[in-house]
Amino acid sequence: VFTGEATFMKGVVDIAGLPPADLGEFAFAGRSNVGKSSLLNALMNRRGLARTSNTPGRTQEVNFFDIGGRFRLVDLPGYGYARASRSKVDAWTDLIFDYLTGRPNLLRVFLLVDSRHGLKPVDEEAMALLDEAAVSYQIVLTKTDKIKETGVTFRLNEVGEALAKRPAAHPEVLATSSEKKHGLDTVRSKMLEALEG
Ligand code: GDP
Repeated sequence: VFTGEATFMKGVVDIAGLPPADLGEFAFAGRSNVGKSSLLNALMNRRGLARTSNTPGRTQEVNFFDIGGRFRLVDLPGYGYARASRSKVDAWTDLIFDYLTGRPNLLRVFLLVDSRHGLKPVDEEAMALLDEAAVSYQIVLTKTDKIKETGVTFRLNEVGEALAKRPAAHPEVLATSSEKKHGLDTVRSKMLEALEG
């Protein structure tokens, strides 16, 4: 479903620019530098389709990718860029709030967390927002090639325990490495399951 069928649709800066809500969507969110562009490119098998741009303060666009006319991947701007005074989910503008809270065809948010660092307060803020909006989300650990297998297991348990304390139920935590192409098929199969469910 993914290979060679991904195309960039559009970058959106306001709610009026959103594509019609006629296809299921999976949104990808996480702290700046978490490895979101790398994971999107790896999932889509298209190097460079999602730009790996770490320019902070750049115009924040929500980017839509069409996957074979069957569903879409949605690249949300990274949040929590490392500036002490701006630790909030402040890159999450009105557009992103409106998108996350009012998009009927949004099937799931994949919330990316660096496997080396685990959950940061800003991630917990994002989780609280999604829980409040009753948006389904699944945590995806990134860059697992950078730590030992025991470290990955530790992190999976730690994040799983944090999730278990949240008010809503959430699907299991996934582990990925875009570099080594680990865990990608699992993420893809979660999307296909959600599409069929
Ligand atoms: P974004 O800001 O969330 O889109 O993050 P990027 O995809 O641009 O990645 C940030 C940095 O982490 C880049 O230097 C990537 O090469 C690196 N990176 C991303 N994914 C992986 C991974 O799976 N393994 C390793 N070792 N590095 C990664």
